[in-house]
Amino acid sequence: MRVLIVGGGIAGLTLAAKLRQQGRAPVVIEKAAEYRDVGYGIGLYPLGSCVLHGLGVYGRLLECGLEVKRYEIADHSGEVLQSLDMSDLTNEIGPMWMLSRSALIDILREACGDLPIRMGTTASRIQQKGETVGVRFNDGTEEEFDLVVSCDGIHSLTRQEVFGPGEKFDSGWTCWTWWGGGELFDPELVREYWGRGWFFGGYPVPDRRMYCAGLPTTTVGDRHAAEDVVRDALATHLSELTGNDAAVAEALAGAPELFAWPMYDVRMEHWIEGRVVLCGDSGMAFLPTAGVGASNAMRSAAALADELSRADAQLVPLALELYEKRCYKLVKANQQDSRTAGRMMFLNSPALGWGRDQLLKHMSASSFIGNIIKSMKEPF
Ligand SMILES: Cc1cc2nc3c(=O)[nH]c(=O)nc-3n(C[C@H](O)[C@H](O)[C@H](O)COP(=O)(O)OP(=O)(O)OC[C@H]3O[C@@H](n4cnc5c(N)ncnc54)[C@H](O)[C@@H]3O)c2cc1C
Repeated sequence: MRVLIVGGGIAGLTLAAKLRQQGRAPVVIEKAAEYRDVGYGIGLYPLGSCVLHGLGVYGRLLECGLEVKRYEIADHSGEVLQSLDMSDLTNEIGPMWMLSRSALIDILREACGDLPIRMGTTASRIQQKGETVGVRFNDGTEEEFDLVVSCDGIHSLTRQEVFGPGEKFDSGWTCWTWWGGGELFDPELVREYWGRGWFFGGYPVPDRRMYCAGLPTTTVGDRHAAEDVVRDALATHLSELTGNDAAVAEALAGAPELFAWPMYDVRMEHWIEGRVVLCGDSGMAFLPTAGVGASNAMRSAAALADELSRADAQLVPLALELYEKRCYKLVKANQQDSRTAGRMMFLNSPALGWGRDQLLKHMSASSFIGNIIKSMKEPF
């Protein structure tokens, strides 16, 4: 079976590693010229990290990751409203890990062994031809495949070319992220501050911490606003918090450069078009509010590989149908939960923010991620 995987990110490398285990040799193309240590921190629920067991590289996660022990939500003034012992939630399903994206990519590349990845390569044309798919690459060469898997992420060109744009849910907010030192907070703590018209969070990985600060995008004009405009806006909006919490003030002041991250997701109603299939963010991208995008990408890729393990070239359409039936509902439910969490986090109105804070004092944070935890006990 000739399989093309477009995108060597989290879903693409997971799928490639699983297919290699089956003795198959998919072609993997990756737009970037090389893998570099750029990116951000990733929270991995057991929903996704469990796939590393099957790939024989879970031990590498223990070396490169950090187990999150506590999750806290504080209000605009820094008062902690919720403090959740993660083991209360994850005891039965396995721990929640934080690691840098580049560390996770390295682990997955290791699982791919000697499978070549064609770097600096994109598909400039994808055309269904009956039982095969013809692909023209950016170097002008052409090849035919029995299956093309689009793993090229939230901005997927494959999706746009073959399926159309999909439904976009835009929260109207932008977050800016940066790396800072790990010493300002307890290293095993994820702490978020749900402000009124702003957001701030700190996410640990070994030896450093990813910080993330958000505002309604109109506060700074648009998401391409100049960095000094963003810094001024953050300083103004977070002034009450930074006055009360020296760690946040120091983290903000020490931000070396800000990476703008628009808070929207994309939903596709279907993942299959002939012999082209969507996997990971290209089929269902996530707001980061529940931290499950990467986990779903890995789990979906593993499920797709599993269905393909029982198929030959002729049976690809059936394997794809089974994959979609198996994963779609659960992935969409996780995405919906992320949207709901986003509506709670990204609140503009002081009155609504006050109401939400009262609610947070009395209801457990586990109710926000309870559905996601529950989904880990469902067959996937
Ligand atoms: C700042 C930030 C923080 C995040 N935090 C979390 C978190 O805590 N927990 C979590 O679960 N998720 C998190 N996510 C989301 C998570 O990163 C994604 O859900 C996950 O990476 C999806 O995997 P993917 O393989 O579908 O896409 P990606 O990992 O984005 O991979 C897509 C790959 O395709 C390549 N590509 C793109 N276009 C082409 C093309 N035309 N041809 C060939 N290759 C192409 C890209 O270079 C990339 O390597 C975060 C995302 C961001 C931006």
